[in-house]
Amino acid sequence: MSTEVSTDVAVEITGLKKSFGPLEVLRGIDVSVRRGEVVCVIGPSGSGKSTLLRCVNLLEEPTGGKIVVNGVELTDPDCDIDAARTKIGMVFQGFNLFSHLNVLNNLTVAQRKVLKRKPEEAQRIALRNLERVGLAEKAGAMPAQLSGGQQQRVAIARALSMDPDVMLFDEPTSALDPELVGDVLGVMRQLADEGMTMLVVTHEMQFAREVADKVLFMDGGYVVEEGEAAQVIGAPRHERTKSFLARVL
Ligand code: ADP
Ligand code: MG
Repeated sequence: MSTEVSTDVAVEITGLKKSFGPLEVLRGIDVSVRRGEVVCVIGPSGSGKSTLLRCVNLLEEPTGGKIVVNGVELTDPDCDIDAARTKIGMVFQGFNLFSHLNVLNNLTVAQRKVLKRKPEEAQRIALRNLERVGLAEKAGAMPAQLSGGQQQRVAIARALSMDPDVMLFDEPTSALDPELVGDVLGVMRQLADEGMTMLVVTHEMQFAREVADKVLFMDGGYVVEEGEAAQVIGAPRHERTKSFLARVL
């Protein structure tokens, strides 16, 4: 069963709740991401940002509320979760590459096993996506031979190789040495320019300001403030947003 929504909306989250035992982490979150839009989520540590993304990818099972991605209601008990998940790319803070596989095989394994692509096709798509992130020459390298920034760009290329409708990024640059952050943000900026729909948790306020169509500030399991990046980051209305930004900017 799927629920049809306007084709303009890529991700529609309504009243999302998630508890771990007695701990209420998400207390009723509403997020809407239109096709081609970049939405950045900011907020203090522990505010539930990762849990929000993990719910969208169904790595966590929501306690309540509804998540619809491209017309498919993920929270419907009859939803084919595995099929839906292939359309949602996720890039984590850690690089999460398969350390025993070279770069090319990192990009082809899920294409072959999950999407049942033929090896030649999977390779062609993998190489195209490595080119997109500027790492075509690293196809034969092992992850440990790459810098953190290169590994993260490989992780992005791997997610792109599944042809996702939506890309989720959970603080993709926060584990990187400062000099490596720019290359990863550059790839993300390029994806945004190409029209990729993106939901990005980040502490990079400059990136959010320049790339996001919309910024959400989360605190205590709620979206406290949302609006255009220039407004939320440049002229926050809520006291909690102001004090958070005063600490990070
Ligand atoms: P953020 O990404 O904004 O830092 P998280 O979503 O990681 O916040 O965590 C929000 C809260 O949920 C934290 O208090 C964290 O300890 C708790 N939490 C996250 N995952 C789990 C889990 N699997 N079990 C129990 N508590 C969790
Ligand atoms: Mg987090």
